[in-house]
Amino acid sequence: MRCPFCLCSDVRVVDSRVVEEGNAIRRRRVCEGCNKRFTTYERIEEAPFLVVKRSGGREPFDRSKVVAGMRASLKNRPFLDSDLESAVSEIEDRLRLAGDECSTDQIGLSVLEWLKANDEVGYIRFASVYKGFEAWHDFEREAVSLVKKSEG
Ligand SMILES: [Zn+2]
Repeated sequence: MRCPFCLCSDVRVVDSRVVEEGNAIRRRRVCEGCNKRFTTYERIEEAPFLVVKRSGGREPFDRSKVVAGMRASLKNRPFLDSDLESAVSEIEDRLRLAGDECSTDQIGLSVLEWLKANDEVGYIRFASVYKGFEAWHDFEREAVSLVKKSEG
């Protein structure tokens, strides 16, 4: 493994953790040459599907985050977790057809489309928080605040 900044091959792993529900290992590495840090992922060989965040950063598509966002919008609505899982699989499959990566906006809009076709209440709830999404992580954060709001 060579440093992407200075191409030096004297690179050391400083942190490793299992991510993507055990499907990948994320390693934080530091270059001994220029001291810069970078991240690598080790996973089973299969085209990874990446999400491009509004900040420009990329991270692996995480189905559970999208499901969590949908679940929050569909609180007390007649949907099973398996309905949401299969909706997200459909969304992922469709987005994958367009390439190895997609934007957070494309995901948000796909979820909105699905909700519009399947549940008007969920659609309105999701649309009301979607406008403020800054990043992929906001799916989870917004989902939590939405649940709090609807409980309070
Ligand atoms: Zn370096």
